[in-house]
Amino acid sequence: AAARLAGIRPTIFTEMSALAVRTDAINLGQGFPDVDGPASVVEAAVEALRAGRNQYAPGSGVPELREAVVEHQKRHYGLTWDPASEVTVSTGATEAIAAALLGLVDPRDEVVVLEPYYDSYTAMIQMAGGVRRPVTLRAPDFRVEREALEAAVGPRAKLLLVNSPHNPTGRVLDAEERALIAEIAQAHDLVVVTDEVYEHLTFDGHAHVPLATLPGMAERTLTISSAGKTFSFTGWKVGWVTGPAELVRAVEGAKQWLSFSSGAPLQPAIAHALRQEEGFHVALAAELAEKRDRLCAGLRQLDVDVHVPQGTYFVTTDVRRYGHADSRAFCLALPERAGVVAIPSQVFYDDLDEGRHLVRWAFCKDTGLIDAGIERLLAAD
Ligand code: PMP
Ligand code: GLN
Repeated sequence: AAARLAGIRPTIFTEMSALAVRTDAINLGQGFPDVDGPASVVEAAVEALRAGRNQYAPGSGVPELREAVVEHQKRHYGLTWDPASEVTVSTGATEAIAAALLGLVDPRDEVVVLEPYYDSYTAMIQMAGGVRRPVTLRAPDFRVEREALEAAVGPRAKLLLVNSPHNPTGRVLDAEERALIAEIAQAHDLVVVTDEVYEHLTFDGHAHVPLATLPGMAERTLTISSAGKTFSFTGWKVGWVTGPAELVRAVEGAKQWLSFSSGAPLQPAIAHALRQEEGFHVALAAELAEKRDRLCAGLRQLDVDVHVPQGTYFVTTDVRRYGHADSRAFCLALPERAGVVAIPSQVFYDDLDEGRHLVRWAFCKDTGLIDAGIERLLAAD
């Protein structure tokens, strides 16, 4: 393989979901819901298929989806984007992340990234030739600290890659952290790429506020989201990016050579979802809050320290008190021991002292499955 792939392992989600299938374990690893999104959205896709919307979509996406994204950003956050030049549709948030990094990062440019990081960030920083500069969110609060952020921003820093609500910790950045990020981004003239795929999946009044809404930020920020999380269609791979035309052009410049354009019949269906099915994610967030509490309560019965998330569908535990120092060894042995799969969060860290003992569990699953998982864990204890 090419040098740009050196050290890049198969993604942990593939590895652990394959393990779950192989061992017939309960999969509390990979984050995908086990109930699909709204039926009317499926119908809208079927209609689009039947209506012959089966040839290439425009590279930037079908007009009604771009317009629906703009309306959504306006309605929820008061952001104003031009659907013709300031929105582009991607094949999931994953392609948006890839295209943003390939379109904006030159070899040896530094990319400041929150750690633990979603695995595609570091793979794509490397493929773009960039250098990652992690800012560690430290347990138990997982806050962005000024000292850590300032230390990570050197003279070669080009881009700041943020994720909130944050996978895997479940943190939702608060006003102080958002202001800090905005201050540092402007002081160092950084482009900010912010992955907000869990924008609607927050709990206990921890409202998500896009970084692009802060003063001086809209002009330097690319915001990424995805229908996968908001509407429980992870397999559709429909995502989007909003931001100033110049930055969106850079994303499109790379995207046109990755996929050229994304799945045509799914796009009008997601436009319909954004316009007509907003109630879905409101109900989903409420359900997830209950499932979170259920999983957290169950995990507390083991001797693990539970870090309760403010958003996303993941909970992080520290398994040291439970007698395990290494989350990877723990997760690899878990299907055999207990018939459960979880994600070793250490793969999202450079600083292993911070992450070696952390395990991520998904609760976007049927209540019965969560309970069965807990039962198995308790029985194996
Ligand atoms: N970013 C984060 C933080 C994620 O958790 C995920 C997983 N859905 C993605 C991006 C990828 O999103 P998509 O499936 O839309 O490519
Ligand atoms: N985002 C999902 C997670 O964090 C997984 C997506 C993927 O498998 N690439 O579990």
